[in-house]
Amino acid sequence: MSAKNKIQGIDLRDIAAKFGTPLYVYDAEKIKERIQYFRSCFSGINLNIKYAVKSLSNLNILKLMKKEGLGLDTVTVQEIHLGLKAGFTPKQIVFTPNITDFKNIKEAVELGVSINIENLSNLEKFGKEFGSSIPCCIRLNPNILFEIEKREVEGIDRSNINKEHYDEINEDRKSVWHNQSKFGISLTQFKELMEIINSNNIKVNGLHIHASHVIMNSEMFMKNAQTMFELSKHFPYLEYFDFGGGLMVPHNENDKVVDIKTLGTEFEKLYKKYCHEQGVNYQIWFEPGRFLVSEAGYLLTTAEILKTNGSFDFVGVNTGFHHLIRPMMYDAYHEIINISNPTGELKKYTVVGNLCEIDNLGKDRLLNKVSEGDILMVENAGAYGFSMASNYNSNYRPAEVLILNGEAKLIRKQESFIDVIKNIVEIDI
Ligand SMILES: *Cc1c(COP(=O)(O)O)cnc(C)c1O
Repeated sequence: MSAKNKIQGIDLRDIAAKFGTPLYVYDAEKIKERIQYFRSCFSGINLNIKYAVKSLSNLNILKLMKKEGLGLDTVTVQEIHLGLKAGFTPKQIVFTPNITDFKNIKEAVELGVSINIENLSNLEKFGKEFGSSIPCCIRLNPNILFEIEKREVEGIDRSNINKEHYDEINEDRKSVWHNQSKFGISLTQFKELMEIINSNNIKVNGLHIHASHVIMNSEMFMKNAQTMFELSKHFPYLEYFDFGGGLMVPHNENDKVVDIKTLGTEFEKLYKKYCHEQGVNYQIWFEPGRFLVSEAGYLLTTAEILKTNGSFDFVGVNTGFHHLIRPMMYDAYHEIINISNPTGELKKYTVVGNLCEIDNLGKDRLLNKVSEGDILMVENAGAYGFSMASNYNSNYRPAEVLILNGEAKLIRKQESFIDVIKNIVEIDI
């Protein structure tokens, strides 16, 4: 356990003392390691990694991604601007919005980034406006029926599955229609899709699939890949396939996640077969967010109040779902470790946040005995942690620190009262 107190030789307790809590801490070495691992799993293919900005969007993280040779996946025009500010060229950035006003797509075209379109309505507008002058990638939803075993569903983090979908999986564990989501153009509309493309001479340069939820198993992934490769014959200008993100990382020892090493090997065979048959060296894009940054991030928080209600021992901490919403919103499991007392006796606690409503970070957790003032470390907080934080209860969003080359550096200040009040327009009441 004690090794967990340190990142690149720096004790997290010292970081908490220096920068205060609550605090997001990211490990640059871990991010680099994940990138290298990802690349090593797809070493035999023409790979292009587009980091999903929305998972962790601090400008310094984007610069790190640039330095490591990645591109960016953006979902809003603001994210494109962040990427450009971080030094990416427009060509390194892909814009993959969901349910967006066409004016945003026009803006993205003006900024020169790669365009991805996920509904027929915008595709038609795109065709009318740009015809064959600007290529675009089409986001598809291949409607693949796949089997999910109960253990797989229970093992995974459901963060990318909406609640309804999850309940449906739970009630009828046999099968799930992969296309019951709002994302992408359903293959059931393939005829309409081709009509729009042909009547407007749209040059489709990429085919994209990012499941509305996570890549749960390699079988489903391979089926999707095969479907995509087979569709390529309809698209003479095709240069790349984009397989999106959605690769999971384990949050506790029971989590079963796709082994991307095996997936990569299987995929490479299929890829080579199609490239060979069609005589094209297609690029393969992925847009991982969580896979690269989840495990590189920690939320440090202080145990402020210990209290016992009935049979529960509560540890009340100085953060909550305004800083890390995943436990409350998705029922996600995040490991919590008492780094101030790493060898203390184990006791069961429920760790609760400080918002004035139900705000659990972890129920019934075994932690080394907690005293008021101890620093707790919440794991897997790199992805969708800070990026989903809010000012609820008029709280401040926390500071962020990046550990880079053995040094802890502040990369975002904690907010202050000015941030809470700045957009208020006072009127006479
Ligand atoms: C959110 C998103 C991603 C990243 O998903 P992860 O689960 O973080 O890997 C990739 N591509 C698109 C289009 C997205 O919307």
